[in-house]
Amino acid sequence: MDVTPPYRGRVAPSPTGYLHLGHARTFLTAQERCRAAGGTLILRVEDIDTTRCKLEFRRALYEDLRWMGIEWEEGPDCGGPYSPYLQSERIPLYREALRELHRRGFIYPCRCSRQDVLNALSAPHSGEEEPPYPGTCRPAPGAVLPEIREGEDVHWRFRVPEGEELTFHDLAHGPQHATAGADFGDFVVWRRDDVPAYQLAVVVDDAAMKITEVVRGSDLLLSTFRQLLLYRALGLEAPAFYHAPLVLDPETGERLAKRHAALSLRQLRAMGADPALLIGE
Ligand code: GLU
Repeated sequence: MDVTPPYRGRVAPSPTGYLHLGHARTFLTAQERCRAAGGTLILRVEDIDTTRCKLEFRRALYEDLRWMGIEWEEGPDCGGPYSPYLQSERIPLYREALRELHRRGFIYPCRCSRQDVLNALSAPHSGEEEPPYPGTCRPAPGAVLPEIREGEDVHWRFRVPEGEELTFHDLAHGPQHATAGADFGDFVVWRRDDVPAYQLAVVVDDAAMKITEVVRGSDLLLSTFRQLLLYRALGLEAPAFYHAPLVLDPETGERLAKRHAALSLRQLRAMGADPALLIGE
């Protein structure tokens, strides 16, 4: 008997800017892998970072995704069995996961720097990895945790198993290794302004939406280790991972990013580009 669950993939843009060539490449790869497996593609809009997400970008992304030929079967515009597909409408689920992490003793309140908290706002990108947390607010093992009080001015940090060697097999890059506490440290799962961090939201959603394979950019390879710790802590099954190579700026060799004024798909379309020719190898 075949017990493999049916393939479910997702594209998960954040409406913090217009989509660019880098997104096109990752999303088209996600679609290709999903189609090859006869799976279902989900669109999830990652808009919990209220300080950076804009309605204008959210509206544009549907249009840009369609222009590049992405077709999704579940999403904010068409619904589906795991609605809602906008993260801003899923906050109660993240709060429940936070409480579960608290019950199981995996997190602690922290009052450290604003920069650390900023780093937890959204998915980190290459060159933006925070240095391992020095442990300033980390309580002694077994210490009684204060209760979670909504609106309290603390953020909640996940305690990583210091020194543990972590591994996973990436479907694009092969075996991956990292050491908890050295390659990355205790990370924020809930911000002091009462907003869940990307790491927590993405795990809760990929599990709840029964995603079997996550296809995303290689800049998130290290984040995957954090997320695997969250899956384990919450007793959830992790999906498979395929980290697609990044599109680099041919002039600087840097990763294309919205914030570096990368050519947006809107611009390319306005210039008359043919979406079918966008992604050559
Ligand atoms: N929303 C994230 C981003 O746009 C993607 C996160 C993910 O695919 O896990 O960077």
